[in-house]
Amino acid sequence: MENKNSRYADFSEIRYAEEFGSDFQTVLDAENDAEFERRVLMSEADEIETEDDDATAAAKKAFGVRFLFPWQRLVVSNILDASKNIEADSSFFDNLDDDEFCRGRQIVLLPTGAGKSMCFLVPSLILKGPTLVFYPLLALMADQKRRMDEGGISCVVFKGGQSFEEREENFRKISEGAKVILANPEVLQGGALVERLSKCGIAHIAIDEAHCVSEWGDSFRPAYLSLGEIIRKLNVKIVTAFTATASPPVLNRVGEILFGGHYHLLKSDSDRANIHYSVLHAYAKEKAALECAVRMRKPMIIFCATRPRTENMARILVEVFGVEKVRFYHAGMTKEEKLAVEKWFFDSDDGILTATCAYGMGMDKGNIYSVVHLDAPSHLENFIQEAGRAGRKGDDVRSVLIWNHADMNRYEKAPPESRERVMGDFVLEKNCRRQFMLDYLGGEKTVCSGCDLCDARKDGRNVEGKAWDAEFAHRFVKRNRRVLDRSALSSELSELFNEMKLGVFGMNVWEDSDTASVLSQLVSERRVKICSGLWRGKVDIDEKNAIGRKILSAAFVEGRIRNPLLRFFHLLHSIRRVSRRLQEAVRNASVF
Ligand SMILES: [Zn+2]
Repeated sequence: MENKNSRYADFSEIRYAEEFGSDFQTVLDAENDAEFERRVLMSEADEIETEDDDATAAAKKAFGVRFLFPWQRLVVSNILDASKNIEADSSFFDNLDDDEFCRGRQIVLLPTGAGKSMCFLVPSLILKGPTLVFYPLLALMADQKRRMDEGGISCVVFKGGQSFEEREENFRKISEGAKVILANPEVLQGGALVERLSKCGIAHIAIDEAHCVSEWGDSFRPAYLSLGEIIRKLNVKIVTAFTATASPPVLNRVGEILFGGHYHLLKSDSDRANIHYSVLHAYAKEKAALECAVRMRKPMIIFCATRPRTENMARILVEVFGVEKVRFYHAGMTKEEKLAVEKWFFDSDDGILTATCAYGMGMDKGNIYSVVHLDAPSHLENFIQEAGRAGRKGDDVRSVLIWNHADMNRYEKAPPESRERVMGDFVLEKNCRRQFMLDYLGGEKTVCSGCDLCDARKDGRNVEGKAWDAEFAHRFVKRNRRVLDRSALSSELSELFNEMKLGVFGMNVWEDSDTASVLSQLVSERRVKICSGLWRGKVDIDEKNAIGRKILSAAFVEGRIRNPLLRFFHLLHSIRRVSRRLQEAVRNASVF
């Protein structure tokens, strides 16, 4: 059994035990995965009915587990997302510039005994082709084989000293749909076997004890050095390497050998008590991010959805902070450019980095104090991971998600109950953001250590979820109805905003394009409109919508509506509200 002190440096067992309960502390002492999973299997199943995602449903069905832990879900969803990406576009992984591509090539840093086999067994049940798993020890392979046989999962083993017949039998089983292929790296040193396996449609490769590639450690296995070459020959795009060793030289070596330096590093600490979460509603998001950068502690990362947006955000920041304090980072840069930015940020005590999700591979900067999301990632799992870039040393840090009407529109278009929908639900959450995340990921209960909703409740404040810039613009239009056209209004507003925020920025930062975007969103929301006819082109309050809302809300307050048509609309509205509440209640109740 591994010495506890040799587990990776920033992994706090105490915090782990607090987050995941005393059971987990016992599990930490368990000798290996098998013991961990046995314990999860044996714990009594909760009877609450929930809508499971594919992965949780598969895990429940095949392994009888109640839920997947947050880090397990992160690993699994990265694998399944990568597989979907390939299905949609077979050249997906050939494009090294794609910011998303690395999530399918991940190094997972997990302490021994944290339940890593679920991370590849669960996807193996969902993926179309078999999963090839490399183990360093024959004993581990034999143990896995026995457990899979018990679980009724078709599995074959390739190891040294097998007869021709045994190998043929293996290939027959693979052609009949075996889900898992176990092998040690030594057996694949001969080209013929690799050649034949490359025709088996392997969907995913998992590598256990990946630090065996490192020549510096005690566990060095020369055959592991050839794994990168074997992966290329097998032409498998989705690869997950597991290791419990966190030393940066070892991780870098693993990344070089297996992934040619392009990989995604995933750590198991997905909810961290030292992160304060909040959502900031603002229609002009860049200006809100700029204000965060002025007011919040640095070093700071601002995550943006696209490469042009990282560059544009950096340009805006440079105006206020100067070129020395700001850089951008995305996968479209050359390796040298990226290295230079990484080094600059690593050494910086007050820098601001704008980045796509490409940032973070192999980076472990301890003193990031704020993470701002200019754009929400597509999934809550990714948001949690990105927010988790801050506070790696345990300092109190802040995560801010900036949100506007356009975001809400996008998320409302996602299918109900889809993973894409969840970021919107996270924003609309009324109780506690941290609990929302934990409910979504693993069903753990926690005492919140800080979020905007809990803060407001403590102070007796209401959280209205309104954007100050949009509200101001709306009030302005209300006072100046049909006076200004769109462009005159934009410049009027940007002048006003500049005046209001002069104390914050010390200079004019609002541009007409910012206020124009605020207005467009208000129009799309049908709170203001551009007139036609006599007042052609002038901006006015959208009266129809405003009156409709007023009547409905008055009806709610009074509890009675006489007009049959209104009653019908009221009924529709109530049904929508009730169904949304029900969904919320189900989610709050779900313990996987
Ligand atoms: Zn909270």
